[in-house]
Amino acid sequence: MTLKAIEKNDHRQNLLEVNDLYKYFPIQRGVFRSTVGHVRAVDGVSFQVKSGETLGLVGESGCGKTTTGRCIIQLETPTGGQIFFNKDGTRVPVNPKTIKSLRRDMQFIFQDPYSSLNPRMTVERIIAEPLITHGIKNKTERRDRVLELMSAVGLSGDHLSRFPHEFSGGQRQRVGIARALALNPKLVICDEPVSALDVSVQAQVINLLQDLQEQYGLTYLFIAHDLSVVYHICNRVAVMYLGRIVELTDVDELFSNPKHPYTEALFSAIPIPDPDNQLEQIILEGDVPSPSNPPNGCSFHPRCRYAQSICRQEEPALTVTDGKDNHLVACHYAAELALRGIRIA
Ligand code: SF4
Repeated sequence: MTLKAIEKNDHRQNLLEVNDLYKYFPIQRGVFRSTVGHVRAVDGVSFQVKSGETLGLVGESGCGKTTTGRCIIQLETPTGGQIFFNKDGTRVPVNPKTIKSLRRDMQFIFQDPYSSLNPRMTVERIIAEPLITHGIKNKTERRDRVLELMSAVGLSGDHLSRFPHEFSGGQRQRVGIARALALNPKLVICDEPVSALDVSVQAQVINLLQDLQEQYGLTYLFIAHDLSVVYHICNRVAVMYLGRIVELTDVDELFSNPKHPYTEALFSAIPIPDPDNQLEQIILEGDVPSPSNPPNGCSFHPRCRYAQSICRQEEPALTVTDGKDNHLVACHYAAELALRGIRIA
């Protein structure tokens, strides 16, 4: 069964649809900056995000997950493909022309809470900026909304006139979250929102995001490389490798029954504080192939310990495995391999 057929059978409402998304960055050389190749950051990615769910996008650095998020919100212009947003029941294409009218509904939380806040602005101004941009001129109304948002993210109203450098990393990320929520968005793209924070603060911010999702009915696209964080917050997970999705399924299914060798390797890198529940450590051989010159066939084959000759010749399609239409895998041997899952407390 193909991805499109599965979409037809699933009657839950898609808030976001990404169809065959590409983003190639040109490689320019010489005095005349002629294009000598392309970095294929995103190479034919398709998925949907259902209303009210959290879809995780995971993979190692450079796999294209952040670029995918930036393309969705048009911080990068896609090279190809289509993106649709369900705006009050109407399927609106997301492109440079429509993005302004969709900004209220789609917001972004940046990875780095240090550089994503203007150091010259007070917290009040930072959170109020989207309100000003979108025409809320009444100062009292704006201040009330800023105070409401600060309370929602666990900051005191006394912090209104402070500057970003006066906060800790966790507090700064709370300011970033308040700014993202200012316009009552439906979809929030969270780009590694806790990876720059101390471990103790990560849990607080994850819990805060979950509370806010419930309180405001938010839908998240959660970009991360830490699978234990993904386990705690996501309903479904898409695993990306070299610009493509290689596995996409429900979070419990992924952790208990992984089907792609790359997912298995990612699991083996998670530290488990239980001596009876250790996985064999899988050290991936070789370097990550260059996204400007990906290998033929399965892009994971130079590092895959199960690779056979067909893997070097034919690219596996992302299709259902074991007849489970909620589990898509791009591997020729997905049905045969017995890969070990992982238990996270
Ligand atoms: Fe490994 Fe082959 Fe599957 Fe690719 S298709 S993940 S190389 S077994």
